[in-house]
Amino acid sequence: ILELVGLRKSYGENEVLRGVDLRVRPAELVCVIGPSGSGKSTMLRCCNRLEEPTGGQVVVDGLDIMRPDVDVNRVRQGVGMVFQHFNLYPHLDVLANVTLALRRVQGHSRAAAEALARAALAQVGLAEKAEAFPGQLSGGQQQRVGIARAIALKPRVMLFDEPTSALDPELVDEVLRVMRSLRDSGMTMLVVTHEMAFAHAAADRVVFMDGGVVAEEGSAADIFERPQGARTRSFVGRYM
Ligand code: ATP
Ligand code: MG
Repeated sequence: ILELVGLRKSYGENEVLRGVDLRVRPAELVCVIGPSGSGKSTMLRCCNRLEEPTGGQVVVDGLDIMRPDVDVNRVRQGVGMVFQHFNLYPHLDVLANVTLALRRVQGHSRAAAEALARAALAQVGLAEKAEAFPGQLSGGQQQRVGIARAIALKPRVMLFDEPTSALDPELVDEVLRVMRSLRDSGMTMLVVTHEMAFAHAAADRVVFMDGGVVAEEGSAADIFERPQGARTRSFVGRYM
């Protein structure tokens, strides 16, 4: 569904991605781990053109999204993204936050958008919070609204950039549980995370990024229980 081929990105002299090859298959949950500054966020942002790569290909459903004739808004509807900071509109209630893109970008009527939004909120366990404002919710609930907002658009693949790292520890699990249930419902997911227990337990495949390349990848058991590279071993060794 999503394929990165020789993806490169430089900021001036600083080459952050130095040829990333990565493939996410339908209904797969792939976790990306790696040290700070290894290019994980940059790689993710290239997948929906929040960032323009300097080389290589990003292929979504067989379409090279870097082609100049590709509509960026269409790409972003197919590739949903959940951020570390939830970026909800504080002056809009939960339902309005979730229906906004459904109405503005996908052109649904108010009634249709509300039906889709309520279904997405039910999927993240927040059906009863539709009329609440973000400030009245916990961080974990706000992040679940962020997830609902993305899945309401029915993307082909979902990207998560450290979705739990801004949360208090006791709120992390409710978000990870929602992500697991999403995956059980067949969603294709690429997740950058520092939650090693989650990656170990939930990922179909784990990708270790280091220095702007995929240094090692394999099943969760391969990466956590029998890492090959010395860098992989020392990185996962700190958590095991
Ligand atoms: P972390 O685990 O800390 O989130 P990361 O693996 O996500 O790290 P990136 O955010 O992708 O790493 O950053 C990789 C490198 O790219 C860093 O050295 C960073 O300074 C640089 N970088 C990222 N964004 C920009 C930018 N907009 N302009 C210049 N340099 C940038
Ligand atoms: Mg990052």
